[in-house]
Amino acid sequence: MEPRASREALAIIAIVPERYPGDEAAHGQTASAKSVYSLDMVERREGPTGARKKIAIVGGGIAGVAAAWQLHETHEVTLFEAQPRLGGHVRTAEIPGDGTQTSATADLGVIIINTRGYPNLAALYQKLRIGLRPIALSVQAYFGPDGDHWGTDCHDTRLFREVEADCHTFQDSLMHRFDVPMTDFSVTLGAYCDRLGLSQVFREKALVPLLIVLQVTRGSLWETPVVFVRQMFRHGVLSFFAPPSGWVMIEGGSAREIDALSSTLGDRVRPQTRVRRVQRSQDSVTIHWDGGPPGGERFDDVILTCSLDIARMLIAEDADEVERAALDPKSFQYEDLQVFLHTDLDAVARGTPEPWLFQYNHTARGRSVTLNPTQRTLGAGAAPTPLVTYCFDADATPAPDKVQERVTFSHLIATPASCAAAVGLRAINGRRHTFYAGHSCALPPNWHEGAFVSGLIVAQALGAPYPFRGDAAAERVFALMSMVMGVDAQAP
Ligand SMILES: Cc1cc2nc3c(=O)[nH]c(=O)nc-3n(C[C@H](O)[C@H](O)[C@H](O)COP(=O)(O)OP(=O)(O)OC[C@H]3O[C@@H](n4cnc5c(N)ncnc54)[C@H](O)[C@@H]3O)c2cc1C
Repeated sequence: MEPRASREALAIIAIVPERYPGDEAAHGQTASAKSVYSLDMVERREGPTGARKKIAIVGGGIAGVAAAWQLHETHEVTLFEAQPRLGGHVRTAEIPGDGTQTSATADLGVIIINTRGYPNLAALYQKLRIGLRPIALSVQAYFGPDGDHWGTDCHDTRLFREVEADCHTFQDSLMHRFDVPMTDFSVTLGAYCDRLGLSQVFREKALVPLLIVLQVTRGSLWETPVVFVRQMFRHGVLSFFAPPSGWVMIEGGSAREIDALSSTLGDRVRPQTRVRRVQRSQDSVTIHWDGGPPGGERFDDVILTCSLDIARMLIAEDADEVERAALDPKSFQYEDLQVFLHTDLDAVARGTPEPWLFQYNHTARGRSVTLNPTQRTLGAGAAPTPLVTYCFDADATPAPDKVQERVTFSHLIATPASCAAAVGLRAINGRRHTFYAGHSCALPPNWHEGAFVSGLIVAQALGAPYPFRGDAAAERVFALMSMVMGVDAQAP
């Protein structure tokens, strides 16, 4: 028999909008009644005010920091972060200046934000006066020393001519002949390409370079539900033929958002504190962490924003059947991605029209994506400038003596199962004093917005008012995600 949570999930998925919130503004269209999700629809979920509670938040990525930022005035919050610094997937490195170059920053994790698909973050940046720098999301793709190459602004190549017809077929099909209901997560990108009869060369050499920059996944690109790929193409945030639009980077690096939000938290943040166990009782939660008191510390509620494999492990001791089913490890699978800040110019193809931003390289050593964060020239004789490389295969790493920083990020693999299971989390969210937020609770493709909004949603369920009232596009995303997450305020 179909479990209750998944039946509810299917009902909720039915409200996923076909348009990006904000599209009306962007395209001058009038929102149809069907595409409007108002804050009134989630008003009943407004959390209670009154009693000051003690709330533990596990995980200091954007979701945990957002929840703490919202809740700290109403409640006594404690934000536990395993690493020495907050940010999680947000990680900014400083690049010192020298006699000829000014200092700069490089984002190793979260890099790009889409202003149309991320209205809550856009509202946050405005509120915090964080500057945004528009970027051309030009992607250059290189395949080995034989010189096979194309770029989103470089079509006059042998390779592009070979794949051009399939690029048209794929893009036209997504834009004008798409027949997969937006509520159907089961049709994968791989199955959709099979259905259109698209060549292997197109898939590996045209589609992968374009999508991998946004999906940052080693092996599971073909498992991505095609409805999300369609959203990206349909709204112009990805294209083979025109510069994808709406993308920005944060001036000074994405860590600025974390710094600004956490500056209000003071000693409520406990960095380098790894939570090991979360025990629930009828009326409270006990948190145990490395080096903490033997009996742990008592809280009224806990928000888990760490990955769901870790969440499952933390509550394992007293998890009930519903929790074990909702956190089924077969649904939520994570993969590790190695990211390097380095000056190994041999890791990238030279001769690319400069200044380039993203370069995809598929050589005999493996696949990688390199970002030139400063967009400084790499021409002959130029001083080596730091680059950021995401390695999708172990052998594609830069030379060790040229590596300045190396980070491993673990992130969710987006599959039909993970998307359905994210919605199924509503069966346990808010139950037993335990709330869930973070990118695993959000649906692709707007990961960062989804993680941020999920933090605001659990904060509201615990009594903090939504901060962007009056911003129609932001409210719509919040309302939609609230219904998907189905967090019940103060459910027993
Ligand atoms: C390399 C990379 C690049 C990305 N780039 C983009 C991008 O450009 N744009 C975009 O929209 N999205 C991007 N994403 C998606 C990104 O996952 C989300 O945007 C978002 O930042 C995730 O935030 P989060 O709070 O859900 O999780 P995380 O950032 O993963 O935070 C979870 C935190 O929990 C902590 N934690 C885990 N276990 C414990 C424990 N036991 N005790 C205490 N703390 C614990 C971790 O240390 C971590 O800090 C990228 C992802 C990756 C991996």
